[in-house]
Amino acid sequence: MNIILLGPPGAGKGTQAKRLETGRGMIQLSTGDMLRAAVAAGTELGQKAKEVMDAGQLVSDDLMIGLISERLDQDDTKGGFILDGFPRTTAQAEALDVMLESKGLALDYVIELRVDDAALVARVVGRYTCAKCGQGYHDEFQKPAKEGVCDVCGSTEFKRRADDTAETVTSRLEAYHKQTAPIIPYYEKVGKLKTVDGMAEIDQVTREIEAILG
Ligand code: AMP
Repeated sequence: MNIILLGPPGAGKGTQAKRLETGRGMIQLSTGDMLRAAVAAGTELGQKAKEVMDAGQLVSDDLMIGLISERLDQDDTKGGFILDGFPRTTAQAEALDVMLESKGLALDYVIELRVDDAALVARVVGRYTCAKCGQGYHDEFQKPAKEGVCDVCGSTEFKRRADDTAETVTSRLEAYHKQTAPIIPYYEKVGKLKTVDGMAEIDQVTREIEAILG
């Protein structure tokens, strides 16, 4: 099964993708994670992307299309993949279609997580992850059971994304509405779009996604 998780920053795409990875052996392909790794490693791609990411804008289509095309050629995607953060523009969606066809692959579903803008800022600004295992937390909504200790792996080190600030999230939301939301009708037309209420509890969202995937 190959799917896209679509939704604004803070909608819960990453959280749900991690759950699908554990439960179904699919692999999460997060372009945001790939870019952050490139920034941390100081590669040419990372150097090009950093400023754009910090401003909450989108990295160029050419770079992103090349990145995901190479990633899809790796063997670990054969058991099914979850695209998280890609495509983000009409040009990326069209390039993805061409790319999948040329690789003999197909998309099963595009799952849109719908969340009110007002909730997103608070969700994004307080979030952080375990530096060791990547488990997600939130200052207000999802604290670890023991303060400062990861529930999953016991690590005491956590990290926050450089772009999870109140200022940047506004630009990221604007980019979502202007550049990404227009791809929703594109997938609706081909009958692949499923919409899930991303305002529901995390477990409920997972159940709804599971029901779609069957
Ligand atoms: P994310 O982790 O998905 O929120 O992505 C973080 C940032 O990486 C975004 O705000 C963009 O600057 C950049 N980015 C990630 N995926 C894409 C994409 N498909 N197209 C353009 N920029 C992207």
